[in-house]
Amino acid sequence: MRFASRMECLQDKALLNAMELTETEDMISFSAGFPSSETYPVADIKEAFVQVLDHEGEEALSYCSTSGFGKLRELIAKRMYDKFGLDYKTGEVVITSGSQQALDMSSMLFINKGDVVLFETPSYLGAVNALKAYEAELVALPTDREGLILDSLKQALDQYGDRVKLIYVIPDFQNPTGRSWSAERRKQFVDFIADYDIPVIEDAAYSELSFEDKLEKPLSYYDKKGQVVYVGTFSKTFCPGLRVAWLCAKEQLMEKFLILKNAADLSSSAIAQRQMAYYLSHYDLDAHIKKITSLYLERRNLMMEVIDREFPKEVGYVIPKGGLFIWLELPEGKDSRELLKRALAEKVAFIPGGSFYPSGVKNNELRLNFSNMKGEEIIKGMTILGHLTREYLAE
Ligand code: PMP
Repeated sequence: MRFASRMECLQDKALLNAMELTETEDMISFSAGFPSSETYPVADIKEAFVQVLDHEGEEALSYCSTSGFGKLRELIAKRMYDKFGLDYKTGEVVITSGSQQALDMSSMLFINKGDVVLFETPSYLGAVNALKAYEAELVALPTDREGLILDSLKQALDQYGDRVKLIYVIPDFQNPTGRSWSAERRKQFVDFIADYDIPVIEDAAYSELSFEDKLEKPLSYYDKKGQVVYVGTFSKTFCPGLRVAWLCAKEQLMEKFLILKNAADLSSSAIAQRQMAYYLSHYDLDAHIKKITSLYLERRNLMMEVIDREFPKEVGYVIPKGGLFIWLELPEGKDSRELLKRALAEKVAFIPGGSFYPSGVKNNELRLNFSNMKGEEIIKGMTILGHLTREYLAE
């Protein structure tokens, strides 16, 4: 069989494997970025489905408009205004089937074969793969503790000129590093990029999972030109199984996104959207988020405690203030793929850091998810990993 050339760009199966590993029996998996499934409000979701089927059953089981269920779009627009001061009208919100679909649509809209996409690195593998599927050339930009380094952005824009078609960033509790951009860097970035006619995808998948009361303003908040496309999701704050997410863009761009959404799947699931709208209207999602973030904070603290106790001191990290991940750095020259081989033999999994670099390899880092394993599994798995790391670094 002859496959499309894009398949050659899609050889990295780390994300696929991470998702599979999480399902392997007996595995203590710190690999996939799953929320903690015991936090899903199953009874409330069931009740919301029952109510929707009782009162709007026929509409819920029909096709929905391509832009999504109007009431849900309205509720999302209001929520984003209340939380982040984002001023999107209902017509500037389209519901997508997971934010992964929004990333796919954004790639489809802007990327021709060989176009350059600028990325903060390391970055989310799923976005890397979505962009690779359109045969983009991915150019990695370095970050520091404040966010994307603007001098490198400028250099890349000078070097690649008109070939740059898109910039993709995750400013909050980033996947994989758990770091967030400072408010100052966000403003500077938006000011700087306003001189260029290049769209920016702001992936806000983790923005509400803060361990502190304060939420940073999104890039979109500072954007006066309609240059930033904002992508949000209920996957991490509620549950991923419904596949309900959204994309916000100003009118002209929205027209194009709707054409693509229609071509992709006509519409997202009507029943899932209606149950989400029911939940948002009748329950308190913010109270739910508070509950899950305190659980994740506990798990983060536990993981940090075991790291401090069991891992060699040469292993570096930055304590994440939200999100689902801790990013560890082994000394230069060490390879986390080798550590993974040994860990898998002991039934512990994580994702080696090299997979998060779309171009150029750096193999001495690793990503650990702390949300998805219970306390005793974190202690057991991290103790094993600590001992294996000690042995490996001593060689
Ligand atoms: N963006 C980021 C940064 C993610 O980590 C993920 C999932 N892990 C997604 C988008 C996709 O999430 P979903 O499709 O479930 O909304």
